[in-house]
Amino acid sequence: MKFIFITGGVASSLGKGLTAASLGRLLKARGLRVVLQKLDPYINVDPGTMNPFQHGEVFVTEDGAETDLDLGHYERFIDENLTRDSNVTAGMVWWTVISKERKGEFLGDTVQVIPHITNEIKERILKVARPGVDVVITEVGGTVGDIESLPFLEAIRQLRHEVGRGNVFNVHVSLVPYLKTTGELKTKPTQHSVRELRGIGIQPDAIVCRSDRPIPKATKEKISLLCDVEAEAVVSAPDVASVYEIPLVLHNEGIDAYIVQHLGLSARPPDLSEWRALVERASRVSGEARIAVVGKYVDLPDAYLSVTEALRHAAIEVGIGLRIDWVASDQLEREGRTEELADYDGLLVPGGFGVRGVEGKIQAITCAREKQVPFLGLCLGLQLAVVEFSRNVVGLEGANSTEFDPDTPHPVIDLLPEQRGVEGLGGTMRLGAYPCKLRPGTKAWKAYGTDLVHERHRHRYEVNPKYRPPLEKAGLITSGESPDGRLVEVVELEGHPWFVACQFHPEFKSRPTRPHPLFRGFLEAAAERARSRSLQPASKPRS
Ligand code: GLN
Repeated sequence: MKFIFITGGVASSLGKGLTAASLGRLLKARGLRVVLQKLDPYINVDPGTMNPFQHGEVFVTEDGAETDLDLGHYERFIDENLTRDSNVTAGMVWWTVISKERKGEFLGDTVQVIPHITNEIKERILKVARPGVDVVITEVGGTVGDIESLPFLEAIRQLRHEVGRGNVFNVHVSLVPYLKTTGELKTKPTQHSVRELRGIGIQPDAIVCRSDRPIPKATKEKISLLCDVEAEAVVSAPDVASVYEIPLVLHNEGIDAYIVQHLGLSARPPDLSEWRALVERASRVSGEARIAVVGKYVDLPDAYLSVTEALRHAAIEVGIGLRIDWVASDQLEREGRTEELADYDGLLVPGGFGVRGVEGKIQAITCAREKQVPFLGLCLGLQLAVVEFSRNVVGLEGANSTEFDPDTPHPVIDLLPEQRGVEGLGGTMRLGAYPCKLRPGTKAWKAYGTDLVHERHRHRYEVNPKYRPPLEKAGLITSGESPDGRLVEVVELEGHPWFVACQFHPEFKSRPTRPHPLFRGFLEAAAERARSRSLQPASKPRS
């Protein structure tokens, strides 16, 4: 078993997660079995309760864990499902150690960061190193120098000692800024960061230099000399137009070959044909589909990272360029400028919690339904499509979700009886993959091309089964339901180019090499609208 640890220096948001994901792809392309893992130094037990404005999207795994968004990158790049073991937070580690202490498991020992916390961290790293796995790639969140990361860094230092030096490879992702005034790339921040890392006892084996431009040979040599890393292992990772180019950039720098050789892995040359074809397809798209995403967290698009990526995957497959406009639902609610939304080629209402901007989203859905704009609703997007249809087509005045109006006369979206009375945060949601039976002949069924699918959930509320008959009678088709027929999973409209909404989050299962069928269907309809629009003669200016 071999271990690769990824640390970050100088600044956060340098793309450590994408580096880890890309290395995973490269090693997998060499026929190795890899697993990826993220260690997060924050005290929250999981990101489920964290504000998306601060932390970005909560990624949900097949087995129902609420995890860091980097796991989304990992799954998309290695095209494999990960489990809850792939995300470890300081909160989880401390919680476990303190619980053991309360149960008396330490037999009266003084419980300390070293060895108790570090042992728990090491155990969790070793847990993903299951039989059959060749390489574990573990990313340590945060930046070297943070107080919070120290126990994690100490744990990986110890692990190298325990599993043998030849079995561990440390990659440090650092920033090499360009100073405009002097026209130079500066290596000093990287030197300092490596010094900090060595102070903790970790010598990097490779440095991935993030910069806005390629790192020239002379700069690499300087970093090599001053940080004691072979020049070959100083990697230039300039900004790229699409994240999917990163594996190819790193491969061209020779990092995968270097790692394989350094760890003594027997691996074949990488087969990157599928990945190269993807990047090539992405560069050949023509035209542009304009998609409006109407949501609450639009100021931090990372809050919808998987949605954005799933749209991209589908656009590449359909062969059209993509422009995403982020529309703040609360602003829409205040200003009511929904007619402008009809100019888009597609409207998407993503998942969300809380009442803010809900009426704005409902107005957007009315526009999509009436003006025949392709529409995709995700989770809350389905719930609001049902509310909109109940109010404006079925005529159920005041229909709502009890999440937003507990006293609504028509609770078309409600908690199921077994969920009522469950208080508190976390653990009360429907989380992870559930089966969904598709109704033959529907758009959803055609898109998937199969009768039964498994999709990932993260919500508390459901379509109220009592309202299914009137909704269906008025034309809202239930195109997917739980195998026992109790839960509505997908709805759609007939006589509309594409109006499909699902109770689950299809975005979590979209992969660049395998776009999600519902996103593909949505983008196909949007592309058709975009293309027919470009064929229309431009309207003459009024004199
Ligand atoms: N707030 C809704 C619920 O809890 C929808 C959640 C979501 O969109 N993920 O059911």
